[in-house]
Parts: sequence; C-alpha cells; structure tokens
Amino acid sequence: MTTNSTVTTATSSLTTTNNAAKTVTHILGYPRIGSQRELKFALEKYWRGEIDQKELKEVGSLLRYRHWSDQVGAGLDYVTVGDFAWYDHVLGTSMLLGHIPQRHNNGFPDLDTLFRVGRGKAPTGCACAASDMTKWFNTNYHYIVPEFTKDDEFNVSWQQLFEEVAEAKKAGHDVKPVLLGPVSYLWLGKEKEEGFDRLSLLPRLLNAYQQILNKLAALGVEWVQIDEPVLALELPKAWADSFKLAYQVLKGDTKLLLTTYFDNITHHLDKIVELSIDGLHVDLSASPEQLDEVVAKLPQSWVLSAGVINGRNVWRADLSAQLERLAPVKAVLGERLWVASSCSLLHSPIDLDLETDVEPEVRQWLSFAKQKCREVTLLAHALDGDAIAKAECDKYSAPIKARATSERVNNADVRQRTNAITAALAERKAPYSERARQQRNALGLPLLPTTTIGSFPQTNEIRTQRRDFKAGRLTEADYNTALKGHIADAIARQEALDLDVFVHGEAERNDMVEYFAELLEGFAVTRFGWVQSYGSRCVKPAVIVSDIYRAQPMTVEWATYAQSLTDKPVKGMLTGPVTILGWTFPREDLTREQIANQIALALRDEVADLQQAGINIIQIDEPAIREGLPLKASQWQTYLDWAVNAFKISAASAEPQTQIHTHMCYSEFNHIIKSVAVLDADVITIETSRSDMELLKAFEEFAYPNEIGPGVYDIHSPNIPSVEQIIHLVEKAEALIPAERLWINPDCGLKTRNWEETEAALRNLVTAAKTLREQW
Ligand code: GLN
Ligand code: ZN
Repeated sequence: MTTNSTVTTATSSLTTTNNAAKTVTHILGYPRIGSQRELKFALEKYWRGEIDQKELKEVGSLLRYRHWSDQVGAGLDYVTVGDFAWYDHVLGTSMLLGHIPQRHNNGFPDLDTLFRVGRGKAPTGCACAASDMTKWFNTNYHYIVPEFTKDDEFNVSWQQLFEEVAEAKKAGHDVKPVLLGPVSYLWLGKEKEEGFDRLSLLPRLLNAYQQILNKLAALGVEWVQIDEPVLALELPKAWADSFKLAYQVLKGDTKLLLTTYFDNITHHLDKIVELSIDGLHVDLSASPEQLDEVVAKLPQSWVLSAGVINGRNVWRADLSAQLERLAPVKAVLGERLWVASSCSLLHSPIDLDLETDVEPEVRQWLSFAKQKCREVTLLAHALDGDAIAKAECDKYSAPIKARATSERVNNADVRQRTNAITAALAERKAPYSERARQQRNALGLPLLPTTTIGSFPQTNEIRTQRRDFKAGRLTEADYNTALKGHIADAIARQEALDLDVFVHGEAERNDMVEYFAELLEGFAVTRFGWVQSYGSRCVKPAVIVSDIYRAQPMTVEWATYAQSLTDKPVKGMLTGPVTILGWTFPREDLTREQIANQIALALRDEVADLQQAGINIIQIDEPAIREGLPLKASQWQTYLDWAVNAFKISAASAEPQTQIHTHMCYSEFNHIIKSVAVLDADVITIETSRSDMELLKAFEEFAYPNEIGPGVYDIHSPNIPSVEQIIHLVEKAEALIPAERLWINPDCGLKTRNWEETEAALRNLVTAAKTLREQW
C-alpha cells in the first residue's frame, strides 16, 4: 500500500479525503437491543402494562438515534436503516409486507399485532398461538417463521421502514435501508397447507417488493441493501434459479446491493453475476477464500462490498493484515470497492468501553459493535492511501498480533495433551451391551426408571442469594450453606416423589455454559456483552480467550454432597464440549475441533473425579449439537464426526459400570441419528412431548441400540400433564422402543418452572411409571 501520499499526511483526518476513488464504508446492521438492554426492558414493561405505546416508541427512537450517531461518529458513509425491529426483523418484514397469519389478521396490523404473532399475546387481547420461532442460520438468534398459504397476498401496509428512513434523513444522515430479500423471505418460512409450494408465491411477493422499492426511491434513497443470506446454502435448483426473475422484476430506481453472509457463495456465483443488481456483498470473515474468485467474476458495473470486519465474534480485527489483503483488490476495483462488516452486527455485543472489569491484556484483543464500526472506517482510510490511517491500523493491530505468541494464550501442557489424542481415547472400555449388563447390576433400577434432566426451579431466593454473593453482600461460606440448603431441599422432594434417579438441582448455576466458563481456565466473562437471542431475550456468551484446562474439580463437591443425602443414585451434571463451544464466542486462531477437544479433555477429568467420588451416573448435556451443523449439508458429516468425538473423549474416562447420560433438546434427529448412535451414551434423554413422540421414529428406524428417555411432558408450559397423558405417550414410545430400554422423564430442565407445578407434574410422572410397570 502507498505510504508516499505526503500531501495528505499533513492534513489527514480520518473523516475526510478528497481521493476520487474513495472507499465507501457501511455495516450491514447494528444491534437493536441497546448497550444497557434498553429495548428489552422497555418491551417487557410494555407487555406488563407499565408503559404505554408512546413511551415504548420513544425508547425505540432514542435507540435508533444513538445507533445512527454511533455509525456516523465512526465515520461510516451510510447509516443502515431498517435493522431496528420491535421483536425480530423477519417478523418486521412480514409486517412490512402485510403478511400476517389469518388468526392474527384482525384489521389494520399495528404494533400489538406484531407482538401477538411473535408471542401469542400482546399486552392484552387474543391469545392466539404465536408463529413458530427458529434459529437464524447458524447463529443463536431466533426469528419468527413466516407462514404461507396458497392464497396469501402481500400488501405494503406497515410504515415503520419508511418512517425510519424519513427520521434518519431528517437527522441529516445518508441512509441505506436494508430489506430481507424476497427469496430468503420465502425460503425462511414454511407452508401451512398441503400440496403447494411457497416458491409459487414469488411473483405476488415481488409486486410488494416493487412497491417498497418505489417508495424508498421516492424518499430519495440511492442504495438499498437487500439481504439474501440463503445464497450461502446449497439450494434446490428451482430456488437458485428463482433469483433471476426476482431481480429482473426488482430492478428500478434504487441501486441494489445484494448481501450474502455466514458462508461463501461461490457455488452460486455464476448465477449471481447474471442478476440485475448493482453490487454484491460477501462475508470474508466466514469465508476469506472466496475473495479472488468473486473479484475475478465481478461484473464491470458492480461494487463489491468486502465484509472483512467480523460481525459475529468479539475479536479486534487485524487491520494491517486486512489492508494487505485488500490493497490489490483496491488497485483493481478503485471506487467500486466498499468495506463493511461481514454480516449484521446484531450478533455482536455492543460496546467494549463498558467492560471495565475485563483484564487489560484481554481487553485490547476485543472489539464490539461500536468499535467495529471504527475498524471499518480506519481500514477504508488506510486503503485510500491515508498514511496516518495506515500507521493507526498498524498500531491498532499490534496487540492482536502479539496475542499469537502471548503466554497467557498458549499453554504447552494443553497443547501436548490435545496433540496426544488418539482414536482409542474416545472409546469406552466395553461395548454398550456389556456396560448395560454391569450397570444393571450396579444400579438395580426398576423397569422404566424415572428421572429429571438436571435443573430444578430457580426460585427468587436462589437468584437473590446469587446476586448478593456476586455483589459481596453474602460471604462465600454463607452462599455455600445456602446452596447446600437448596440441594437438601431438592433431594428431600425427590425422595417424597419417589423418583428413581435424582439430580442435585443446579441451584449453583446461573447458566449451563457460563457456569463452566467461570470455572474453567481459558474463558473471559463480560458484564454487558449481551446479544439478542429472540424478542426481548438476550444471552451473554463467554469468550474463549486461551487454551482451556481445568484447574480443579468443578462439580464434585455439590454432587457428592447431594449423594450423601440419599441412597438413590444422584446424577453428576456436566455441560458437554460441543455445547460449551457452541454457546460461547470462540477464539479464531484454533479450529472449532481443536477447541472442542480442549474442553473435552477438561471434562474427561471431571468425569473421572466424579466417578472416583462415588457418582455412578454422569450426564453430559449436549443440547447444542444439532444446531452446530454447518450451513452446507455437504459439510455436515465432517462436523458431526469431530463433535461426536469430542463428546466421546469427555465420556470415555467412565468405567463400564458408570452410566453416561446425555441430553439433547431442540433437536430433530433425522439427519444426525447415525452420529447420535456413534456418540454411544448409555442413556439419551430428548425433547419429544410436543411432537407426540414423532421424533422417536428416527431412533426406531435406525434401530438405535442404547437406552432412551423420550420427554413425556413439555416443561415450557405451566400445564400439569395428567397420568393418562403421560401413559399415552409412554405407550406410544413403547411401540417404537422396547420397554427395557425406555426411561421416563420430562422434556428438559425445570429451572423456569415453580415447585408447585414441578411437583404436581412429577407426581403424575411417577404414578404413570408405576402403573405401567404393573401392567407390563
Ligand atoms: N441440565 C440442564 C438443565 O436441566 C439441561 C438444559 C438444556 O438442555 N438446555 O437445565
Ligand atoms: Zn434440554
């Protein structure tokens, strides 16, 4: 890159340049929830009836103004508008399109309609079922699934987008609205009627999009960002072909920047370059290797938006390295090169400046949404030949470069141990049939053993005690005494219920991943690093900073205390390596497989210690295993192989007579059943009740050999399942899986329920088991 622009150096500022080939800067979207989660709290107040719609809307507009000024303050050329959503941006798109499920479509859709579709209820009014919610690609964000029927119409009726564009323009900003593209919108929804294909709605949908684009043009918009993230998937031919028509129709008075993210799109590139659009955005964080091919095939008239600042992770960008990579591209494309975040910053925490507790060495390795905006502009200025900016890039990148050799990050013992992993390390000492025999003898459980998944109600008392402990108002000794009290209480209640396999109840855990992240070495935990998960719900993933190891036992004290109070077996309770990895921000200098193996080895030692301490059943939860599947089906097996192997490494320190359980929820097993079998847990408990045991069919068809506990009631609902309902479900299960291999348990952990509901439900569950034992 040029460092000889002596004329500009003297006066160089990061916000102005008169270079004709100036690099345009933007982001694909900003987090909407607010750095103090203002939107969350306002929404929840509104739903509780504590504020009115006017007050809620004021919070929204305050946040938008702040987020735009963050973008402008960082020097971005455009502010992105349309990324704000009251609940979810896919639901926002449905509203924009006037496409609301019939059962909610009472009159002119308003904000309460939106909340009804998202939550099944507004502050008041009908309690019609909400639309389904599902994961947004391979992120931990969840969107509201559009529902399609054959005669659906689309009428642009909801004005939010246009109002916000006007609002931003009035505030003096250059506006680039973002829309979810028509093909992705259709793909992400589902048919609610047999015998029709939602793709057939495309022509009608395109009319509505045309109207939207016309309206935006009339508002003076030059560029529209149109997101088609489905282009990262391996699409059926009809879907891949549909883009051509779609973008022919949408060609109009605004320029279209077609945005793709989360993975490479080169498999569709030949089709993409035929589209009537004006620019393409690619995710060079998820897939840096696509750059050359994209540049080579980019049509002459298009801009290329290079998504180089990772919107999905928390690491400071190595701007010097990016500069080196993009400089030759800049030389080729000139002003046709834009620099951007890889995807929307929705998936990133908001402001690193708030993290005053993170250690300084670690802190200088991180960057959140607000900081990422600045990375984009700094890089662009350097690309434009600004020598000061280039020097700043180097200075900015120095800490993250230094991290590579930091002693804190690289632990020789951990490396040695992971390098020494052999195939044998993942294998139990005996095959399932032999283990089952030994476990039957050792445990002496009845037919259809009853158990729960781990957590018991997290009462206000528990939460208050934890808060007091963290704030220093409760000593460690007093906190531990309190926790032991909760464990004793949980054991006494399970005795009274006459369950067969107990749990200690997880009172000491705030969250199944953060708890282990705090105990294991190698993680950093943030205070405000919240990321929207769905609606008003946020998660605060820990950060994997360095090599992971276990400094001391983590759960043994609680498990053995619980076991000391009863003759029934108490399950040790761990979160598995794939789930810990999946629900944290991973480091990027190791592969996911390498990180999972480090966690697996730490857990393996915990399993050994639990066993040593007399815990005969150990559950290793892996609810996130399925959601970690890569976007492209052709890569699934590679992922499953290492993921399953990591689980097995953690479990294989168990002796044959120690029973290993695992638990998976939110799962559909059709594609992964073979790997679940390879995983070889002695017992797997799964979420099945809402599917009426449908999910169990995959196990039957595959002739899954080990024991299974299909959930017999939905813990998300306050409804108490009756004895008859439970019996009905177990009978359905028994038609698929022999009774000798069935367990009876709820769908998932009970931490969100209260004790009254929990005990009533479990009483019926135990009665159902006893009734069936007598009959069978
Ligand atoms: N053991 C955990 C619990 O019961 C499992 C949670 C989960 O599967 N999401 O809370
Ligand atoms: Zn679960």
